[in-house]
Amino acid sequence: MAGEPQADCLFCKIVAGEVPATVVRETGTTVAFRDINPQAPTHILVIPKAHYRDAAVLAAAEPGLAADVLREAGAVAADEKVDDRGYRIIFNTGAGAGQTVFHAHAHVLGGRGLDWPPG
Ligand code: AMP
Ligand code: ZN
Repeated sequence: MAGEPQADCLFCKIVAGEVPATVVRETGTTVAFRDINPQAPTHILVIPKAHYRDAAVLAAAEPGLAADVLREAGAVAADEKVDDRGYRIIFNTGAGAGQTVFHAHAHVLGGRGLDWPPG
């Protein structure tokens, strides 16, 4: 069923507490935790607790949940005090764009200069 936990999904395991993560924020519908391989001083992943393979599928199935993820991304940026300088919210979508975990997640990157366009 749409949104159900997937046994082979790393981020579902983090939601379930089966894989440890440094959680910085949690709501009834989302978890935010530090990326294990940070690409910036602030690099936090915000995920819906429900499993959807990418951001577009999430938004089509549960637009309110997609909004929860975006709101939490902003809250993370404020908590980390990167909102004044500016930060980036990224959803890598598809293997060709660098998506490696197929459970929708927002990267929140900040705390350094961020080039445009990204690589
Ligand atoms: P993506 O490449 O967009 O699918 O992003 C997946 C991200 O998950 C990468 O930035 C990884 O560094 C990160 N990652 C992988 N395993 C873990 C983990 N156990 N805890 C935290 N972040 C992780
Ligand atoms: Zn999952």
